[in-house]
Amino acid sequence: MKSKRVELLKGDITTLKVDAIVNAANSSLLGGGGVDGAIHMAAGPDLLNECRDLNGCSTGQAKITRGYNLQAGHIIHTVGPVWYGGYKDEPEQLASCYQASLKLAKENKLKTIAFPGISTGIYGFPKDLAAVIAVNETKRFISRNSYPEKVIFVAYDDEGYEIYRKLLNQ
Ligand code: ADP
Repeated sequence: MKSKRVELLKGDITTLKVDAIVNAANSSLLGGGGVDGAIHMAAGPDLLNECRDLNGCSTGQAKITRGYNLQAGHIIHTVGPVWYGGYKDEPEQLASCYQASLKLAKENKLKTIAFPGISTGIYGFPKDLAAVIAVNETKRFISRNSYPEKVIFVAYDDEGYEIYRKLLNQ
């Protein structure tokens, strides 16, 4: 069923004016490639200083920082699983990323949160399966909680956009 609390956008997540954007971080939380690099670049060097004090993050978990130079007030850093063929609990770990990120949004009373496709770049998680997990976990969470009020999935390309569009229109 379509939900007014779930939206789909295509583009660069670092430009969004939301209460939190989610970062597909690595376990060091000290920056990397892909969306992680773009977020650190846009947020500025104070982000790295705050991240240094967080002592990293385990796969499937999430930690929150300020947004610094971003329009977004906060960044929720979550560490997605590397795809090893699906035999290492990757789907459960990816589901945990969405749960942990949404829980942090709730605890911090954040109204709007935007997710990139966690693990679907360098970490190699199949995009279709990742989107099913993202949408299912999000719908389950918001059906039980009033925060976050709105969740935005941010696709970076046409392929990703189409995958989410089909799922969200069901
Ligand atoms: P991971 O290491 O978790 O796979 P990546 O950053 O390599 O993380 O990719 C995660 C997803 O984010 C990919 O689908 C990629 O296309 C997308 N992406 C990369 N840069 C941006 C951006 N600036 N805004 C939104 N999505 C992005």
